[in-house]
Amino acid sequence: MGFGRRVHIKTDEEVELLRESSLLVGKTLAAVAERIRPGVTTLELDAVAEEFIRDHGAEPGFKGYGGFPNSLCTSVNEAVVHGIPNDKPLEEGDIVSIDCGVLKNEFYGDSAYTFAVGAIAPEIQQLLDVTKECLRLAIEQAVVGKRIGDIGFACQQHAEKHGYGVVRELVGHGLGRSLHEAPEVPNYGRRGNGPRLMNGMVLAIEPMINLGRKEVFHLEDGWTIVTADRKVSAHFEHDVVVRNGQADVLSSFDEIEKVLQH
Ligand code: MG
Ligand code: MG
Repeated sequence: MGFGRRVHIKTDEEVELLRESSLLVGKTLAAVAERIRPGVTTLELDAVAEEFIRDHGAEPGFKGYGGFPNSLCTSVNEAVVHGIPNDKPLEEGDIVSIDCGVLKNEFYGDSAYTFAVGAIAPEIQQLLDVTKECLRLAIEQAVVGKRIGDIGFACQQHAEKHGYGVVRELVGHGLGRSLHEAPEVPNYGRRGNGPRLMNGMVLAIEPMINLGRKEVFHLEDGWTIVTADRKVSAHFEHDVVVRNGQADVLSSFDEIEKVLQH
């Protein structure tokens, strides 16, 4: 998918519209989280999300995007990203990565969270914890004076320290009036390499980390990306604004984690 070449620096007004869209994604994922348990299908979760998004005056950002059929990408276990919701019930011990986009006031929000279905194996819980840490460490690099490669380096170093595979084929991206804008934001990289980060750049940072090897392939449905070794994969995504000193995180997992703590 082409991201275009031009980086769109956002005004403060645009940032607030992006914040509204990004926060709505978090609330949508929280509504979905309330329904995640063994026996629920990803199509049922998709219906919850679509209704929630429309009830909040927005459009599902993914539905129809490049021909994608649904409002959520639901990627179970060895699926990395871009899974299509289906009628297969989730099972105890599964993980499901749920990626959601909304379009409101002409701006997109785009955020993802990987959920445990019931009790999961400790080694899988560790993958979820470390992938979320990768996201936090990557976001710490999203400041003026750093470069795109610093974001990827922070993510890759932390993941590989744990023996995990960092997916190369899919990357984060700029975000705004388009779901995918320049620059590309890889989850791997070299320190001090790549485009300079500028105040007001809005980035979707989204580590995709595999329990096993980094290699992935495309399923025949044309969308779903799965790990080559069929081991599980995790995905967390936040939308952030590059600022001086500290990035401004536009999306939030707070509502999701309130649900998960109950
Ligand atoms: Mg996403
Ligand atoms: Mg994204």
